[in-house]
Amino acid sequence: MGKPDTILLDHGAGGKASAELVGGLFAKHLGNEVLDQMDDAAVVDLPPGRLAVSTDSFTVDPIFFPGGNIGSLAVHGTVNDVTMRGGRPLFLTVGFVLEEGLPVADLERVVAAMAEAVQEAGVKVIAGDTKVVGRGQADKLFINTTGIGVIPPGLELGAHLARPGDVVLVSGSMGDHGVTIMAAREGLGLEAPLSSDSAALNGLAAGVIVACPGLKTLRDPTRGGLATALNEIAASSGVDMELDEAAVPIDPAVAGVCELLGLDPLYLANEGKLICIVDPDQAQTALEALRAHPLGHSAAIIGRCGGTKPGKVWMNTSAGGRRILDMLSGEPLPRIC
Ligand code: MG
Repeated sequence: MGKPDTILLDHGAGGKASAELVGGLFAKHLGNEVLDQMDDAAVVDLPPGRLAVSTDSFTVDPIFFPGGNIGSLAVHGTVNDVTMRGGRPLFLTVGFVLEEGLPVADLERVVAAMAEAVQEAGVKVIAGDTKVVGRGQADKLFINTTGIGVIPPGLELGAHLARPGDVVLVSGSMGDHGVTIMAAREGLGLEAPLSSDSAALNGLAAGVIVACPGLKTLRDPTRGGLATALNEIAASSGVDMELDEAAVPIDPAVAGVCELLGLDPLYLANEGKLICIVDPDQAQTALEALRAHPLGHSAAIIGRCGGTKPGKVWMNTSAGGRRILDMLSGEPLPRIC
């Protein structure tokens, strides 16, 4: 009997079929000297510093979308969360939940994309797990990744560290991932050239960290978008923020689709962008450091922190008005990541 071309319950049973899947597919793409030991736990050495650890489960629907797939997204999302605290991401663990009947070719495409993302981000998968559930008990596949990074001694970044006067920057256009997933899921067949921005941000962040000792906060505006992430920072730091709508970069294709569908790109997820809050003296340096990296070429200064109404985020609109930018309420778009 040849190799099955779909995932069977056997693949998760820990026997021969599991071993074939692990050796023939996972180890083939993700293998390294640590993973290849296949012992009960990975054992690694760490450089000096504090650990930054983040975990996330990925359930994005559809699993393949313009600009990436659930595998590359599962690497980028976790690498980015470790990065936002100043952690240099080093290792990932990966857990798969597979639905019986998933084409093995689809799984291989996902794992190959993970391998490419891991390589680009300069991290290693050091532990993994696979479970298979019956048809209808999951939707194709879900992936959990945990990221482990080390924060170099002396570096302190966090959402609680913004102060009145600090300047707010973003590394590029807002809403690309959210609108792309929505269009792909609904099969909107739009002519607009939409693509997810899914990318590992550790290289981009490293440039700003080195250039700006006055860097306070990094955050990736994922679920809930820019508006929600800024509200979280404002609340955590006890500052208010005033943004300039015209300064927020939005891709014309994204803006067009959002207008058509009645969506606000400031509330849509990004998977390859960061918010950067920096001492006012270093705002220009931060902008230049971001723009010097391919992922930050359209970076912009979008606003400033104040101390008048702690926790509030205001937007000076292009039309000359002023509106409050609240947190996202409800979930307009489930399974976005
Ligand atoms: Mg995050």
